[in-house]
Order: sequence, then C-alpha cells, then structure tokens
Amino acid sequence: SHELKTPIFNIQGYISTLIDGGINDPKINIDYLKRADKSVDRMIHIIDDLETISQLESGTLSLDIENYNLVEQIHDIISQIEIMASKKNIKITVKTSSDKIKVATDRFRIRQVLANLLTNSLKYGKDNGETTVNMQEDKERVTITISDNGIGIESKHLPRLFERFYRVDKGRSREQGGTGLGLSIVKHIIEAHNQNISVSSEFGKGTTFVFTLPKP
Ligand code: ADP
Repeated sequence: SHELKTPIFNIQGYISTLIDGGINDPKINIDYLKRADKSVDRMIHIIDDLETISQLESGTLSLDIENYNLVEQIHDIISQIEIMASKKNIKITVKTSSDKIKVATDRFRIRQVLANLLTNSLKYGKDNGETTVNMQEDKERVTITISDNGIGIESKHLPRLFERFYRVDKGRSREQGGTGLGLSIVKHIIEAHNQNISVSSEFGKGTTFVFTLPKP
C-alpha cells in the first residue's frame, strides 16, 4: 500500500494546489497536470504488475504454450529497446550456436521475462557498457544468460532480490520508473514453466542472470 500511496499523495498535492488558485497560474497549471498524469501512469503500472503476480500466485494465469524460435524473439525485443540502449551507449550482443533455437513456452510471458531482464541491464548499466545474451541448448532445455557490466549488486541483497517490492536502491529504482515487482514476476513466470532462474553479481562490476526454458 505504501507503493500506491506515494503516487496518490503526489496527485492529491497537485490537485490541491490547482484548486487553491494554481489553476489560473500559467507557470504551473499545465506542469502540475502533467505531473499528476505521470503519477496516474505509475499507479496503473503498479496495479498491472500486482495483477500479474496475483494471477501467477493463485494459478489462475494459465500458460499458452507454443513452439517458436527464441533467437528471433530476442532480436525482436532488442530492436524495441535499442533507443533506450543508445541513450547510454550500451552495446547489446547476442551469442548463439544457431540462429534457430526452438522453445516450448508462453510467448507473451517469456517476452515479459526477457524484456524485464534486458531493460534492467540498461537501467542499471553504466554508460558505454555492454549487455550480452548467451543461449545454449542441450537435449531438454535452453540455458539463457543475460549479463551486464553495470553497477552490480552487493551480495547481501542477492538472497532477497526476487522478492516483490525489493529494491536495492529505492531512489535510483524509482527514478528509473521501477516498482520492484519486475524480478518477482520474472521468477514466477520461469517457475510456472517448471524452470529455474538464478543471479550472481559483483558490486561495481556487473550482474548475470541465468535461467532455463523447455524445448519442444
Ligand atoms: P525495479 O522495478 O526496481 O527495477 P526489479 O524487481 O526489476 O525492480 O529489480 C529489483 C532490484 O534489483 C532493482 O531495484 C535493482 O536495484 C536490482 N537490479 C535488477 N537488475 C539489476 C541489474 N542488471 N544490475 C544491477 N541491479 C539490478
């Protein structure tokens, strides 16, 4: 509730100021409406994430399993976050043994997982850094490794990283539009596919997430 109260109090503050005469002040009226609008977006984002988590936890979210090419999906996501990467001049490299690696997963949910881990690598990446996606397949599964050379995470935080609302640096995360729900959703989705995800990190050096996906 604390996470929701922050944007609500912000919206209340902007509206009160507008009611108290700010509405007639061209210096602030549009600006305050825009800020209130941003806080509404943030609330919607939090509620959407919470809805996903509660569906995943209660098991009401059923997976829609399809066979498709994971390499293509990764390139597709990268092309959509390229602008974000170019702002920090971060290079995203994909390493794969073949350009066709088939997985049997819920395409939409795995897209959420990949987008989340990749955008985190940019959000918490350093300028001129690098994000690497590595895919390796064996008989039964595909192992995906996403690593960055960004700010890293102190080891004391790692055991709680996948908990909902857990953020290492609240200020930085909020600044980046984060809710602290992303990794908890990621873990739920991977586990719903009966697979695992783990994290390793070196503070100041970078972070690596490794997870598996089932093959058809
Ligand atoms: P948020 O919405 O805050 O990004 P997440 O659940 O996605 O929430 O991540 C939880 C926390 O883990 C983040 O606040 C951040 O501190 C840390 N984190 C996640 N990914 C990385 C990464 N690639 N490098 C460094 N820190 C990370």
